[in-house]
Amino acid sequence: MINLSQIRAQFPILNREIHGKPLIYLDNAATSQKPLSVIEVESNYYKELNANVHRGIHTLSQLATDEMENSRKKVQKFINAKHDYEVIFTKGTTESINLITYALSNSGKLSKDDEIIITHLEHHSNIVPWQMLCQRTGAKLKVIPINEEGILNLDFLRENLSDRTKIVSFNYVSNALGIVNPVQEMISLIRQNSGAWIVVDGAQAVPHFKVDVQALDCDFFAFSGHKMYAPTGTGVLYGKEAVLESLEPFHGGGEMIATCSFEKTTYAALPFKFEAGTPNIAGNIALGAAVDFIENIGHETLQQHENNLLKYAQNRLLEIEKLTVYGEKAHRTGVVSFNLQNAGISSDVGMILDKLGIAVRTGHHCTQPIMDFFNIAGTVRASFAVYNTNEEVDALVEGVKKAQRMLS
Ligand code: PMP
Repeated sequence: MINLSQIRAQFPILNREIHGKPLIYLDNAATSQKPLSVIEVESNYYKELNANVHRGIHTLSQLATDEMENSRKKVQKFINAKHDYEVIFTKGTTESINLITYALSNSGKLSKDDEIIITHLEHHSNIVPWQMLCQRTGAKLKVIPINEEGILNLDFLRENLSDRTKIVSFNYVSNALGIVNPVQEMISLIRQNSGAWIVVDGAQAVPHFKVDVQALDCDFFAFSGHKMYAPTGTGVLYGKEAVLESLEPFHGGGEMIATCSFEKTTYAALPFKFEAGTPNIAGNIALGAAVDFIENIGHETLQQHENNLLKYAQNRLLEIEKLTVYGEKAHRTGVVSFNLQNAGISSDVGMILDKLGIAVRTGHHCTQPIMDFFNIAGTVRASFAVYNTNEEVDALVEGVKKAQRMLS
């Protein structure tokens, strides 16, 4: 059983008021709130440990290095990577995906006859870097279509896989709709029909359920720390050792070299080859504390609570007449995305909810192609974390009813 009051007590921000009302934070897909353990580990780094990593022989530098490398090991276990050096610290999913795309073009891995496949369900950060890569290399981008429920057309994937397919990149969970894609099935299809490298955007997966990158057998797995209770400016790119070894670096600079001269520079071993410059040391250490936070609750407990919340929220919202839930019948996690018909636009609803202390996201959620597919400008998105409650969902439903009365 989940102990919600004990969990909520760990999040100081949940005590604050917005417009004189208790904060109801339902914008977790954008970024989650942070527990005290994470906040304290981050601030403690500056109080007790601040020194640059991997550089100093002095004690403080070694302590900071140990803490950060210990955190890397926690992340390794969290996603079940084979080696800790397959975990590259980045500032988030966006940087992780850009790292892959630039490493690919820096390595001359793509040319004009090659193809990259993504899906219609992607966040802009899993679209634009691939478009930019296509511009640099002449490779072509193909997009797996969705149906009215937001479900991917896997026949399209099957029919379009060939020797020309060099990359297939897709999210595990859609941030706009919360749809959980059949990644295992997609990965088997890709492995059977091409030699493509597989990139999984796991930004909306790791906050909600256990991920095992070895069982998935993906080549890359990208996620953000700040959506899983860690500080902003933290994230991870997991890559299989052999794949990472075969790539040139993205950024050049300090920390990523083995030797440097004007004639020739050689690169450091993994993961440092891909971690140029001073990293977000405090944030990376606190990411380890966020992993501890999730694991202390337990994936199953967390997942069950969030699935119950989602089911409850969807059922209650659908009691409201003239309300559309997008991807209503699809397998989803963490997110309910909806609109009121004939009652203003999503931001009007969001503003009324804000006056009630309820934080939701409105607009296109960095997924304009999904909005175009449904022929809408945006949706109201309520997204859940482990500290949310059924009472908060009730308040959301009352707020949406109020917005409907005011706007229609
Ligand atoms: N992919 C998905 C599925 C996301 O939800 C997000 C964040 N909304 C991103 C990528 C980008 O993450 P970040 O802004 O942390 O780089």
